[in-house]
Amino acid sequence: MIRHPDARTKTTPSSPFVVNVARLGRRPGAMMSLAEQRSTPVRIGLDLVAIPPDTAVDLDLRVESVSEGVLVSGVVSGPTTGECARCLQPLTGDVEVELTELFAYPDSATDATTDDDEIGRVVDDAVDLEQAIVDAVGLTLPLSPLCEPDCPGLCPDCGVVLADAEPGHHHEKIDPRWAKLAEMAGRQRSPGAPSSDDGER
Ligand SMILES: [Zn+2]
Ligand SMILES: [Zn+2]
Repeated sequence: MIRHPDARTKTTPSSPFVVNVARLGRRPGAMMSLAEQRSTPVRIGLDLVAIPPDTAVDLDLRVESVSEGVLVSGVVSGPTTGECARCLQPLTGDVEVELTELFAYPDSATDATTDDDEIGRVVDDAVDLEQAIVDAVGLTLPLSPLCEPDCPGLCPDCGVVLADAEPGHHHEKIDPRWAKLAEMAGRQRSPGAPSSDDGER
């Protein structure tokens, strides 16, 4: 059977998260640690918060050979930027995810019985962590990030950022049915009102 080498891999040479595992030599039990920074060319995250492009992502990983493939485990972390879901102001933070990801050897039983969408593959003595990182970061980041846990958001009437507004910011609201009455009462209570006001009647 002839397999086209590119037909079954999503590994791209340009992926910033490719890890060469040739050192492990397919000896089960062989292990190496990987502590380094990789710059991501793409944004990783959700609509409102993500690791921005061209940002250094910290990899602190253990890479070990097991009988079926290469097991990568450890922590990936990086800075995030985004927008508060309530007040829409910019925010910054950090995200840290735990990875445990098996990459199957090309001719292992796992390779024969799983789809490469489910389990990644060791390709040309390398594994590509990009999809695993994208998935883990996406699951960890909040869908509705907040600048502060108790962010008061925006004033529903004028749209001002309430955290920056004067304390107790609010708008006098009068039921429209009473507005005319209040207007009349206001006139009666101002005897010094200009006489032209009386002239209208
Ligand atoms: Zn906010
Ligand atoms: Zn307001």
